[in-house]
Amino acid sequence: MGRPILDLSGQVAVVTGASSGIGQAVAIGLAEAGAKVVVNYRGEEEGAEATAEAVRRAGSEALILRADVSDEAEVEELFRRTRERFGTLHILVANAGLQRDAPSHEMSLDDWRKVIDVNLTGQFLCCRAAIREFLRRGPQPEISKATGKIVCMSSVHERIMWAGHVNYAASKGGVMLMMQSLAQEYAEKKIRINSIAPGAIRTPINRKAWETPEALADLLRLIPYGRIGEVEDIANAAVWLASDHSDYVTGASLFVDGGMALYPEFRGGG
Ligand code: NAD
Repeated sequence: MGRPILDLSGQVAVVTGASSGIGQAVAIGLAEAGAKVVVNYRGEEEGAEATAEAVRRAGSEALILRADVSDEAEVEELFRRTRERFGTLHILVANAGLQRDAPSHEMSLDDWRKVIDVNLTGQFLCCRAAIREFLRRGPQPEISKATGKIVCMSSVHERIMWAGHVNYAASKGGVMLMMQSLAQEYAEKKIRINSIAPGAIRTPINRKAWETPEALADLLRLIPYGRIGEVEDIANAAVWLASDHSDYVTGASLFVDGGMALYPEFRGGG
């Protein structure tokens, strides 16, 4: 087999929330492209081990590290141990995220804070640690045109308001402007920062939306392309954004959503 078209060999990636769903697929996709992968998880050790095993089967190296992305000290330790093991870092996929849904007038402050802490503050803490490492190491043009690459996991809900999920939509709207501001700030340092905005992807986070035929039929009404997304759809986009094939792309939200953000209700002319 020749070198993959999207070649990440010699590069080190941290993927947060890599014990299940999208993060797991992204970790495997990066490994298939040749990157060594730090598999971060918080609670699901078995899932993290399954991801690491798949990374190794893809012929790459894996390091499993537990850390809660909303905890500053744990994030610092995650990146310190990454550097200790692999020397440096080239790619961050800030993927960890969760939902705590409730009608807004019933939402507890705890549920509001938890989602903002993990989905927004957690991404900031990981981006800050990654950027510090990219700046410390400086350019390595023989490895990648960019000094560092960050992919933030956003959502179509950075654009589409979402009743009953106000904390989640606010966190992803925050991720959008955080990502764009960081991209603006660090482009001159050759650090590229982009987001993926997934639509409905079949993972545990949204099981209720696809596990019965009735729920799936309802969901498909919102997806012009006519199918639910699979985790590999997101992994493929992440590998591209981490590779030199996207070298002129920074500050972008890449919608990977089968057209969900295209106001599907207006398909027939409104
Ligand atoms: P998932 O529940 O399978 O995965 C979420 C991962 O984040 C898990 O591994 C979980 O352990 C981890 N995590 C949660 N809190 C954490 C913390 N404090 N520290 C470290 N890790 C933590 O769901 P998923 O669908 O794979 O979600 C991944 C990302 O994709 C999330 O940011 C989510 O908002 C986003 N997303 C998912 C969809 C979808 O349809 N599945 C759509 C849009 C955006």
